Amino acid sequence: MPIRQLPDTLINQIAAGEVVERPASVVKELVENALDAGALRIDIDLEEGGVRLIRIRDDGAGIAPEQLPLAISRHATSKIASLDDLEGVATLGFRGEALPSIASVSRFAMSSRRADDGHGATIEVEGGRVGEVAPRPHPQGTTVEVRDLFFNVPARRKFLRAERTELGHIEEWLRQLALARPDVELRMSHNGKPSRRWKGDSDLLSDVRLHETLGEEFARNALHVDHEGAGLRLHGWIAQPSYNRASADQQYLYCNGRAIRDRSVAHAVKQAYADVLFHGRQPAYVLFLELDPRRVDVNVHPAKHEVRFRDSRLIHDFVYRTLQAALAETRAGSTPTHGQ
Ligand code: ADP
Ligand code: MG
Repeated sequence: MPIRQLPDTLINQIAAGEVVERPASVVKELVENALDAGALRIDIDLEEGGVRLIRIRDDGAGIAPEQLPLAISRHATSKIASLDDLEGVATLGFRGEALPSIASVSRFAMSSRRADDGHGATIEVEGGRVGEVAPRPHPQGTTVEVRDLFFNVPARRKFLRAERTELGHIEEWLRQLALARPDVELRMSHNGKPSRRWKGDSDLLSDVRLHETLGEEFARNALHVDHEGAGLRLHGWIAQPSYNRASADQQYLYCNGRAIRDRSVAHAVKQAYADVLFHGRQPAYVLFLELDPRRVDVNVHPAKHEVRFRDSRLIHDFVYRTLQAALAETRAGSTPTHGQ
């Protein structure tokens, strides 16, 4: 075959292979967009585990009507403009590929209005075919509707699991988010019935939200940690060793507000627990690491679950020492700090 330039829709569908694995990845990308737009309330309506419908409505900044086609164009973003911006990126998104990818493998619609605009507008895309921008009343903010995910990609549709399973993935991701953003109100409905609600009420992760998300047992056994040094801050909650798990199912780690998986930090935590946990048991924690965004590279993988720390060793030791000291303090018999 001769070498050919691929059509845009196919390019987007190829990118979708990396960014859109299942309904939960769509929810993640759309909710991250809402958060980047400054939303404080996000409504998530799902049908059939998100396969039939994912509708996300936010009260964020909104998009100007003439910018709607750009929002769904590949490599178009309002979040970075230069390499320098990329190196210090503070938003959850920056690659400008989630919306075009999602729109290329679904029946997609986005409606929006900015606070100062008199009218809202909407744009529809079906399997990558983009329609015209049309006026449409809308409260301030944005609504994105994704119907019939993978309707045009049978090979991907085949890998979708039962409704329960897909819903479980979405709920797990929302739990992660609810821990990181207690200031945001989240409401979820499934098949027309309200199913989860987190009331946004504080900047700080409270006992209440901890309890709601990880359960009463965790909340009762949680030690509060907050330590700064070397330009790093580690805060959050770790369970006392007496509360431990058979699997790593309650290990939540965030870097600058983004949920991440990091082997080095996970290792540092395990090491801090090494003397106080039985072999094979897992600690439970919700930890937030904050540092200058320039010290961490988030542009490692399209899904952004992984990051690369510029000084990984230093961070490992900081996490280890902070948690070891916190655990040693409780062992020394001081009353466990529950709450603050
Ligand atoms: P990225 O988030 O990496 O910039 P996306 O494809 O997810 O790329 O979104 C493209 C652009 O569309 C964003 O940069 C933003 O300007 C705009 N956008 C997307 N979702 C929203 C939203 N919910 N509210 C306001 N603007 C949005
Ligand atoms: Mg995005």
